[in-house]
Amino acid sequence: MSAKSQRRWHIGRVTNIRQETDTAVRLKVEVPTWPGNDPGAHVDVRLTAPDGYQATRSYSIASSGDTTQVVLVVEELPGGEVSPFLTHHLAEGDELEVHGPLGRYFVWTASDPDRSPVQLIAGGSGIVPLFSMASAREREADHADFRLLYSVRTSRDAFFCEELAAMSQTNVNIVHTRESPSGSTRPPGRLTRDEINRSTFPASVRPRIYVCGPTPFVETIAQSLVQLGHEPVQIRTERFGGTS
Ligand SMILES: Cc1cc2nc3c(=O)[nH]c(=O)nc-3n(C[C@H](O)[C@H](O)[C@H](O)COP(=O)(O)OP(=O)(O)OC[C@H]3O[C@@H](n4cnc5c(N)ncnc54)[C@H](O)[C@@H]3O)c2cc1C
Repeated sequence: MSAKSQRRWHIGRVTNIRQETDTAVRLKVEVPTWPGNDPGAHVDVRLTAPDGYQATRSYSIASSGDTTQVVLVVEELPGGEVSPFLTHHLAEGDELEVHGPLGRYFVWTASDPDRSPVQLIAGGSGIVPLFSMASAREREADHADFRLLYSVRTSRDAFFCEELAAMSQTNVNIVHTRESPSGSTRPPGRLTRDEINRSTFPASVRPRIYVCGPTPFVETIAQSLVQLGHEPVQIRTERFGGTS
């Protein structure tokens, strides 16, 4: 997308805020100068205090394509500098400074001639860029097979519940680490290597793999994937920082 060469600071206006989970909000930001973005890209959001102090953090873009609407989902990190402001104090009608679109490596484009299967593995808020890829895939009539493995603490912490449930082109598998939903036969717990092996594309079909989430989650999953025979070059990772 030509957008890549157009990255710069933009002024957006928040048009809609809604609670995504108890601790996360979905922000719709209208950015008149936005050049569009590939699925998986992110922005830097810059906040400026009345005394001129500035803080900048990265947020993945849940939306994609040639649109001037940028959708973000921000999870509050208690005690953090930027996320508590975005989740509690930002209001509809406020201006928001965003820089982007950023990220050439962690993107998937429908125009890619490579039709290898695509495996998405998300931990917590790491679902945001992978949801963007899966949504873009859903809009395509004929493209690569997609699977999404999404690890969240409880069903109350899952982002994009309705959209994921409605996906017909993407095989979606959600696992819970702290509390299983009623009726689930899987006891709560972190993803194991055996489970990854059973619920993802095998190395023999050489899937392109995107892994995103807290740094320890990404490192553990990437290590398991390599142990399962996937070539490191096939595995793309994005680390959100912090602990899992
Ligand atoms: C490319 C990229 C995309 C991202 N996309 C998203 C997104 O779509 N949604 C989203 O909610 N966040 C996303 N993040 C994380 C985001 O940039 C911030 O790190 C997060 O919002 C915390 O910022 P803060 O200013 O509130 O906390 P800070 O003041 O930066 O951090 C306070 C403390 O929390 C720790 N910490 C930092 N980040 C995390 C974390 N993610 N989890 C746990 N502990 C952490 C720090 O190590 C520090 O000790 C993304 C990060 C990157 C690099």
